[in-house]
Amino acid sequence: MDLKSTIRVIEGFPKEGISFKDITTLLKDKDAFKCAIDELEKNIVGLGAEYIVGPEARGFMLGCALSYKMGLGFIPVRKKGKLPAETVSFSYEKEYGTDTIEIHKDAIKPGTKVVVIDDLLATGGTVEAVKNLLEKMGAEIVAFEFLIELTDLKGRDKLDGYKVDSLITYN
Ligand code: 5GP
Repeated sequence: MDLKSTIRVIEGFPKEGISFKDITTLLKDKDAFKCAIDELEKNIVGLGAEYIVGPEARGFMLGCALSYKMGLGFIPVRKKGKLPAETVSFSYEKEYGTDTIEIHKDAIKPGTKVVVIDDLLATGGTVEAVKNLLEKMGAEIVAFEFLIELTDLKGRDKLDGYKVDSLITYN
């Protein structure tokens, strides 16, 4: 199935010069959504992952469907202050200022095998922060999965040495 044709591209969102890849049109299309989850599963089957980890908000949408399909648990990564129990956090530089992400402290034990999923890999800043947070906790990341990769931004370089897959690419 041609998944790319189900992505809606919005020019100038959220600001001038950005060509935003809107995945809501893929999610709304039951065949495309099923195909995407099935393809993501094929990429990670047999890797021994125990959990799927996804950052809010679009990482939840794909990550929860994938973990349900594979019979795995899902672990959310959230922006600072959203998780109710004790957390481990990691701060990172964004284009404007600093951002902090968090995960529940008891969610990951050293040696836990996880797959990280997000909707889109651009510069790799977000996923690098997730990687650093998980590794600080001793997780073993067996793969990074993305629905979309913007290849010109070379976010993949920040994940050197890891298995990295994307289903749809744009230059
Ligand atoms: P990065 O940190 O790799 O530069 O940006 C990736 C993050 O920003 C992802 O969490 C993704 O959800 C969000 N993002 C950036 N650009 C887009 C876009 O065009 N479409 C969507 N759906 N998400 C984007």
